[in-house]
Amino acid sequence: MPKHYDTIVIGAGIAGCCTAFTLQQKGQNVLLIDRSATPATGGSGAAGAFVSPKIGKGSPLQTLTNEAFHFAKDFYLRHFPDYFHQTGVIRIPKDEEDALKFKVYEPHNNAQYTWVEKAELEAFGIQNSEKSFLFEEAGVCDAPELCTAISKEVPFQQFNVDQLSFDGQNWQLLNAERLTLNAKHIVLSTGYENTLFDMRYMAVKGTWGSRGDYESSLDLKVSMHKSISVSANVKGIIKIGATHVKGKEPCVACDGEPLKGLFETASTMVDTSDFKLKETFCGMRAGSKDYFPLAGRVIDVPYMLETYPKIVRGAKPALTHLDNLFICNGVGGRGFVFAPLMAEWLADLIVNKKEMDKRVTPDRLFLKWCRKL
Ligand SMILES: Cc1cc2nc3c(=O)[nH]c(=O)nc-3n(C[C@H](O)[C@H](O)[C@H](O)COP(=O)(O)OP(=O)(O)OC[C@H]3O[C@@H](n4cnc5c(N)ncnc54)[C@H](O)[C@@H]3O)c2cc1C
Repeated sequence: MPKHYDTIVIGAGIAGCCTAFTLQQKGQNVLLIDRSATPATGGSGAAGAFVSPKIGKGSPLQTLTNEAFHFAKDFYLRHFPDYFHQTGVIRIPKDEEDALKFKVYEPHNNAQYTWVEKAELEAFGIQNSEKSFLFEEAGVCDAPELCTAISKEVPFQQFNVDQLSFDGQNWQLLNAERLTLNAKHIVLSTGYENTLFDMRYMAVKGTWGSRGDYESSLDLKVSMHKSISVSANVKGIIKIGATHVKGKEPCVACDGEPLKGLFETASTMVDTSDFKLKETFCGMRAGSKDYFPLAGRVIDVPYMLETYPKIVRGAKPALTHLDNLFICNGVGGRGFVFAPLMAEWLADLIVNKKEMDKRVTPDRLFLKWCRKL
């Protein structure tokens, strides 16, 4: 008889890893699966994985991001301190015009910060930059190592899900070899690939990016973000990364030279003369239309469209969800910031039936999507 789980989490990127870990912490019998034999082969493996606050004029997205930032840093420090380096992160204005905006942003910095003058930036080894914010509590994760460490805390299995079906009580997962797995609940954390259900209303889109890990003896103690990210020197490695190309065909988009432009930009920021490329990572991050994460129940789209045909002309019936099917996705350029808090909220919904925070449920996008059909 196949083993039966409370929840199977599909996708071992940072979203799936945090969700499986948190569900287990709340007492569930969980299985984490991925089509790859190792975790973090999607966007999560390529991430620069900065965990830093968002700056801006106090938008709702900034408020949520910074709530998630505080939660994430505490989560990593408590559970996985070896893979989160609290180097501090300096947010550098892109140019003089951007520097003027930082004054406007200052009252909305709801994380601890200090101003760093040009002279101090130079002492840090940062060239050609305007007065910046330093967030001392921020830092950088070792992305694939962190996902691997989290996955080791829960049962993990390689399994490429081809199909999902529900028998009224339980979910059955099927792969190409017709092998099955069974669970009461499913969490989809499949990143930018969403072929298992009609999830068009969530409009998950991929943005392609790359990261280079460089060996260097440069004494860079702090991480920084300007238009790209350059990490502090951790154990002789400095990471340069950014996500920037929207598209579905990753390798075409990067044209075989993913790091060329990034390295040139980094060279205007720090002294890269002794940098030696050790490894290149490329990946797609999955973002939502409004940049808020997508965490919560999944709507039964065929049922809604069939039962309420007037929905496409603006009718607003109550939403029907698929039983025990959940998603944790759309974490965008801040997957390592959002994942722990989304996992916490989702686990509270699944285990304790606690209502999900409305800012992140995919429901917010459904009726608008229907009106465009
Ligand atoms: C270059 C780069 C730099 C970045 N920098 C940062 C940063 O500084 N800070 C930050 O917070 N975020 C950053 N991000 C974003 C972050 O990496 C992503 O938001 C995050 O990794 C998304 O994680 P995920 O778990 O949603 O998806 P993924 O990591 O893509 O994981 C999805 C997983 O699902 C699996 N899967 C898909 N379909 C199936 C199936 N049918 N069956 C089984 N398994 C399946 C895939 O194999 C994959 O492992 C960066 C991203 C990139 C690419």
